[in-house]
Amino acid sequence: MIVKPPEPPFLDAWRALHARAHMPLSDEVDQMISRMVSGFQGEQSLAYPLSLLPSDFDIYYGLRLPSIESFFQIDCLIVHENFLAILEVKNHRGTLLFDTARAQLLREWEGKTETFPDPVLQARRQRMQLLEFLGDPSLPCEALVIAANRKARIAGDLPPDVLRPDMIPFYIDSLMYDSPLIDKTFLRKKLLQAHCPAETDVLKRMGVNAADVLPGVRCKDCGRLSMQRVRTVWHCVCGAREKRAHLSTLEDYRLLFGERITNRQARWFLQMQDSRAVHHILKKNTVRSEGPNKKKVYFLR
Ligand SMILES: [Zn+2]
Repeated sequence: MIVKPPEPPFLDAWRALHARAHMPLSDEVDQMISRMVSGFQGEQSLAYPLSLLPSDFDIYYGLRLPSIESFFQIDCLIVHENFLAILEVKNHRGTLLFDTARAQLLREWEGKTETFPDPVLQARRQRMQLLEFLGDPSLPCEALVIAANRKARIAGDLPPDVLRPDMIPFYIDSLMYDSPLIDKTFLRKKLLQAHCPAETDVLKRMGVNAADVLPGVRCKDCGRLSMQRVRTVWHCVCGAREKRAHLSTLEDYRLLFGERITNRQARWFLQMQDSRAVHHILKKNTVRSEGPNKKKVYFLR
């Protein structure tokens, strides 16, 4: 049974930052978005092979557990009363060479060869961390890598700890022992209690300051951040005209900085000088406000 289903990555804040960052930050954010989308697709590709397992398996996706230094994350954990299995999911496209002798994964894609750290070692590291977290180094625990992308081609031999998704049920079937060693109910409580969702503050995650975020009202047609308000209509140099362009810009603000905003912050982000006009926009598009006139804080919807 699926105890913890895969969670789709929340990308809105990442997309807002992508639209409002200079190079090279914008490039880094773009890569981050691709990684998250690919990771989620990889996890989803396990759904069918894992549905073939008997119902006495507990399946956890995306556990993030405390370790001595900080946290470690497990793409998928399978718990049976006889054993644990960690699945480190790789969703790379292209031609993959698992070069375990040199502790690397080579990927050839669109004429380029990229080198990645050996995912088998990554899975083994997670095993050490998990057993330490559980306080019992003797528990039987498999550390496996899943080459999840069905379009990927494997060059050379598949190392023993690397599986394609369709191999999972057969491999798991070979791991059954006679005596139960694991208390699944105890483990369920311990894992779910300790799970700590990843930081959702994207600025914090990328280690960037507010000053690195580009302000300005975003044009839906061309993506420029330079729309100018003329009376009540926003004008872009590309010719676009929009009455409510400030709404998506205030939404970007909320995603990046949170729901609290002052008139001064809104003037910066909307690139407007007229504090009265900004006050009208905020009054109309926030749920409530707090504090006296000059120090008033508005709460974005
Ligand atoms: Zn435009």
